[in-house]
Amino acid sequence: MKTFACTHCGQRVFFDSTRCESCNSALGFVAERGEMAAFAIQPDGVWQRLDSAAPTLRYRPCQNYAVANVCNWMVGADAPGTLCRSCAYTAVIPQLSLPQNQRYWYLLEAAKRRLIYALDEIGLAIPGRSEDPQHGLMFHFLEDAPSKKVLTGHDDGLITLNIDEADDVKREARRTAMDEPYRTLLGHFRHEIGHFYWQCLIADGPWLPAFRQLFGDEMRDYTQAMEAHYQAGAPTDWPLNYISSYATMHPWEDWAETWAHYLHITEALNTAAHWGVSLALPEQPAPDPRRQSGRRRCAAVSRQADRAMAAAGAVSQQHEPQPGAARQLPVCAGRPGDRQARVDPPRGAGGTRAVCNGLAAAVR
Ligand SMILES: [Zn+2]
Ligand SMILES: [Zn+2]
Ligand SMILES: [Zn+2]
Repeated sequence: MKTFACTHCGQRVFFDSTRCESCNSALGFVAERGEMAAFAIQPDGVWQRLDSAAPTLRYRPCQNYAVANVCNWMVGADAPGTLCRSCAYTAVIPQLSLPQNQRYWYLLEAAKRRLIYALDEIGLAIPGRSEDPQHGLMFHFLEDAPSKKVLTGHDDGLITLNIDEADDVKREARRTAMDEPYRTLLGHFRHEIGHFYWQCLIADGPWLPAFRQLFGDEMRDYTQAMEAHYQAGAPTDWPLNYISSYATMHPWEDWAETWAHYLHITEALNTAAHWGVSLALPEQPAPDPRRQSGRRRCAAVSRQADRAMAAAGAVSQQHEPQPGAARQLPVCAGRPGDRQARVDPPRGAGGTRAVCNGLAAAVR
């Protein structure tokens, strides 16, 4: 994630900041402008921008910022709703009578804001239930009841997250037990939104034949595939053909895992570029694929993947002396000639390129 500058004093501030450490201004993220802005709070509750860039724009904090303190995004002062565009996607929140649930809700919303920001950066439309009452995006943050266990997953636009996943101890235990190195809150969001975009972009659309060619026939019985996966596990040679062992379960999961990894890669590259980390390869700088079309777009995304591999190599080497440190980058973290020794050995270069080409074709 990039950092931002306080629009009043220029101090470096962060995506989750609510107050400038230097000038003490109240901060809020203005999503439609991609800015972290400094504000003076007026007696009538309106937040007036302190910078001269947009002096006439007036805002108020999202209700979940002003009341619940789980958000830091802004809403136009004259906008009809009280929630920011990220919070507005959440239809069910945890029961706040339990003290830990306030913290879990904060962590879930914080991860979701990063997802929404990344999707905005890519330029993807994110239709919610107000635009598409039947299939629009919506989130339920639920907890297990004695008689009913909550399964994290996607169903026709509804993404359900078990709030247990916001408990670091429980999630880390599952991450280790299930050998899912990228099991994080944001990882869940990136995976589940992949299912959402499969429905938006692939299902019943012109990309379905190309999807089946690359990922397989999604008409395969999902329940049978899941049972087989949890009984027999992934094929031992999965690293040669899949981005994760979970991706072997069913073409839908292969897609969602690949989509999530594309978002991991994009975010890693954006962060590296923002901090001035050079990922120079002996070739021309990769053009931004969002400004390309057709085959040129595919080639640009392939070069992005190559740069991510270079970054993964560098960062994984930095983490070598820190046993237990979370893996920072998703693909191709192996050293040459050392594939079998890695927890998550790299997908074959041809496979990665094919996947990225498929994604580039689908993301428009
Ligand atoms: Zn400041
Ligand atoms: Zn909000
Ligand atoms: Zn899934």
